[in-house]
Amino acid sequence: MEKLSVLVLDDDDFILDVVHVMLKSFGVTDITCDTSAAMALPTLDMDNPRSVVLCDLNMPEMDGVEVVRYLGQQGFCGGVIVFSGEDSRLLQTVAEIGRAHHLRLLGALGKPIDRQALSRMLQNMAKDASALHHRPHVTLSAAELRDGLENDALTPYFQPQVDTLSRRVIGVEALARWRHPAKGILSPAAFISVAEQNALIAPLTERMITLSLRQWQLWNAAGLDLTISVNLSMHSLTRLDFPERLVAEAQSIGVPLDRLVLEITESQVSQDILVSSDVLARLCLKRVRLSIDDFGTAYSNMEKLQMLPFSELKIDQAFIHGAAKKPASYAIVKSSADLGRDLGMKIVAEGVETQEDWDCAGELGCDLIQGYFIARPMPGDQMPGWVRSWKWR
Ligand SMILES: [Mg+2]
Repeated sequence: MEKLSVLVLDDDDFILDVVHVMLKSFGVTDITCDTSAAMALPTLDMDNPRSVVLCDLNMPEMDGVEVVRYLGQQGFCGGVIVFSGEDSRLLQTVAEIGRAHHLRLLGALGKPIDRQALSRMLQNMAKDASALHHRPHVTLSAAELRDGLENDALTPYFQPQVDTLSRRVIGVEALARWRHPAKGILSPAAFISVAEQNALIAPLTERMITLSLRQWQLWNAAGLDLTISVNLSMHSLTRLDFPERLVAEAQSIGVPLDRLVLEITESQVSQDILVSSDVLARLCLKRVRLSIDDFGTAYSNMEKLQMLPFSELKIDQAFIHGAAKKPASYAIVKSSADLGRDLGMKIVAEGVETQEDWDCAGELGCDLIQGYFIARPMPGDQMPGWVRSWKWR
């Protein structure tokens, strides 16, 4: 824990003193306390994975929600702990906001601060930080992105999906990664918004499909028969010739279309899906399966959902992990799974991180599960070995 660098924000000097003493007793030496978030945050090293921000919710000038939002926007790669005398539901809500911003939320604490709980959160952080390689927040330029798309910098990683009951590996989701010559493997945060702003999202999506289909072929030759899910952007769905091009490509590579699942996020479905229902209907006729991704995060028009030919519903990971202990998440997972089942869809639970998440997803009728508890996304050539060693936990 001595390697951590901790910033404590609270408008109350007394609390700052108390936390300072606690942190020192844990062996933390690099501690900064400040009553003003607005003054302290600009001095924070956003790229330091050993950095932790401990933050009070109720502060007059810049409150805890604003701090969490700011850290998310800056791509802070350290850990965050929020604490407050407010009720625990509010703390949970702020924790969810943090997760939505892809922050590393270590936990939420009530006041007075529980010494042991704080120590545990920091210990986990210290363990993870030493395992974590330094991962600076990088964003590609439009030129880098354009060049890379031509030079094979884009590479899919694959995360397995397991049948909840039989425990067999059924499929994978392809997730975009970027091989950077100097900075290593980058996650979508480094390039998706750049792609969107520069009209490169359709080429990127279609490149992901091509690479995934080729990977399927390699796996198939090695005796693996998995479904492969690819995230689709709406831009591809507004091109009327998309289904025909996709069919031609899958046939030339030798992939049966019913092995392909295209995921479209719920927020896109609820916005402008009617424009693309022509394309969706024809994809469905060609036996490509369609999946609603990140379900629960938008407010879908149920009538619209039921009109469209989706065969799968993926419940967003924000609700799955910890659902057994969070009544609000549990209710969302349950009603989403019920709805999907009533509409004849297969239900996928994303974000399964513990045995408890798995049991809860199974109990609520999710057919497939995906998440760190099963495996992290991996390069395609590692998949056959991983499937062989998968131990039906
Ligand atoms: Mg997805």
